[in-house]
Amino acid sequence: MLYGIEVSNISVYNNVKEQLSIIDVAQHYGIECERSRFNSGSGRMVCCPFHDDRNPSMKLYEEKNGSGGNFHCFGCGEHGDAIDLVSKLFNLAPLQSAEKLTQDFGLTVFGVQKQSKPSIKKRIERHGYVFQENRAYKLLADYCDYLKQCRSDYAPKSHLEEINPLFLKSLDLEKYQYYKDIFIDGSKDERQGFIKEFDSVLSRIEKTLNAEKPKRHNELIEAI
Ligand SMILES: [Zn+2]
Repeated sequence: MLYGIEVSNISVYNNVKEQLSIIDVAQHYGIECERSRFNSGSGRMVCCPFHDDRNPSMKLYEEKNGSGGNFHCFGCGEHGDAIDLVSKLFNLAPLQSAEKLTQDFGLTVFGVQKQSKPSIKKRIERHGYVFQENRAYKLLADYCDYLKQCRSDYAPKSHLEEINPLFLKSLDLEKYQYYKDIFIDGSKDERQGFIKEFDSVLSRIEKTLNAEKPKRHNELIEAI
């Protein structure tokens, strides 16, 4: 998901690449791309950042048909497109690289969106999904933090001590962490399925957290 809009990764990559030139990308991340005697035709020779390269042995191939271009190093054999370059430079997964490029170059439009703008109804629906998912994730994340806190604050110090109900509650932490993970690496169906099925659980969590907030706030004030 990029900006809450679900498009296939491939179209995201293509869209990002279409808007960039490999030379601009290389230059932006510190690869010296000044025109020099090494340059020829549409390519540009640069020093390769992936091996100890004193004489430029990497060639940047500018693509004229809008797919951004490629690089190839004749010294160490590294090659790829702008997204691969960023992935290798910053040790990122391809989608993270696409996101980095999007942010660093202020790109805004994405392939699927650009070609066929969805109807307003679809966009509102989509926005609704994103909103629901963000809310669910935030509630689950906050609730996990709360349970973690309960577990450490109310752990019984000996077997003679009566168990605090908040400590008992905190024993559910792993279950809620599992729920939270659905919003990190689950599919859209799983996320939506959870929201439908566990709506009452989410409302209960919201109530608990809202009731806890002023208490925690007061404790903080007292601690100061
Ligand atoms: Zn190299």
